[in-house]
Amino acid sequence: MVFSENRISLILLCLWVATISLFPEQISAEFQRFEHPTRGDGTLRFLVVGDWGRKGEYNQSKVAFQMGRIGDELDVDFVVSTGDNFYDNGLEGETDPAFVDSYTNIYTAKSLQKQWFSVLGNHDYRGDVIAQLSPVLRKIDSRWLCLRSFVVNAEIAELFFVDTTPFVEDYFTDPGDHTYDWRGVTPVKSYIANTLRDLELALKESTAKWKIVVGHHAIRSVGHHGDTQELVDQLLPVLQANNVDLYVNGHDHCLEHISDRKSPIQFLTSGAGSKAWRGDLKNMNHHTLKFFYDGQGFMSVKMTQSDVEIVFYDVYGQVLHKWTRSKQLHSIM
Ligand SMILES: [Zn+2]
Repeated sequence: MVFSENRISLILLCLWVATISLFPEQISAEFQRFEHPTRGDGTLRFLVVGDWGRKGEYNQSKVAFQMGRIGDELDVDFVVSTGDNFYDNGLEGETDPAFVDSYTNIYTAKSLQKQWFSVLGNHDYRGDVIAQLSPVLRKIDSRWLCLRSFVVNAEIAELFFVDTTPFVEDYFTDPGDHTYDWRGVTPVKSYIANTLRDLELALKESTAKWKIVVGHHAIRSVGHHGDTQELVDQLLPVLQANNVDLYVNGHDHCLEHISDRKSPIQFLTSGAGSKAWRGDLKNMNHHTLKFFYDGQGFMSVKMTQSDVEIVFYDVYGQVLHKWTRSKQLHSIM
């Protein structure tokens, strides 16, 4: 049988339509799950850094060096990135050299050759988002894992990563000179509703002793951007109703610790991986502020079934702030 060119085109078109309907662009926010079992001694240790990808500049390399040192001391299990991974405008594509220049060639310490779990920040949305989420990057550097919303089950703790950028209305209504890559998140109302529904479901199902939610934007902050009202209104009630212990974010280029007034939730900002905004802050009397530092640095988390210890470090690796909490283990009397 001889196919004419038109007929071949028609068949190809049918195949393409069939593929599209089989694999529609994902607007559901259903969380992918990853297992990271707690090590033999029952502890979990990890570092948190945010707002970093500047090809080593603005002290990114110095923070990275200290992360390597503290990562070695703690023997960390993994690293969490709170987003704004690549400045100024995310990645241009899967082969953008910024990935290697700002990530692979910067976090070179042996202790940091672990899995990285990353969320997207607003600056990442200004580039090719699909590229930053692409498995192709894992072939270049196997540590890298960046997804929109997902869960890491580390046994004693569960980490719930939430894609917060689409929550912020200003990026849609008042984008200024910036162009955002909203592929995969429109219509945004259903994307947000799905994200909140799936987060709530995952939190309710969780039997982990500690529940940690990670997003790019702060719920509470005294830094440059202050509170993110959309998250206060929509995300915070879900966290308060589901026994979340920590909400960890970046976005404001500082380190800070604020307690929630209505629940045991601690708001922890680690967004000081490179350029910091010295002196750029809002009302310092705001909320129950426990700690604020307007320079570069990062955070560590060390947990057991019963205890958590949070430590903030500056660019020299000096401890700036330490916070611990114990939870009673329920034992049969
Ligand atoms: Zn940001």
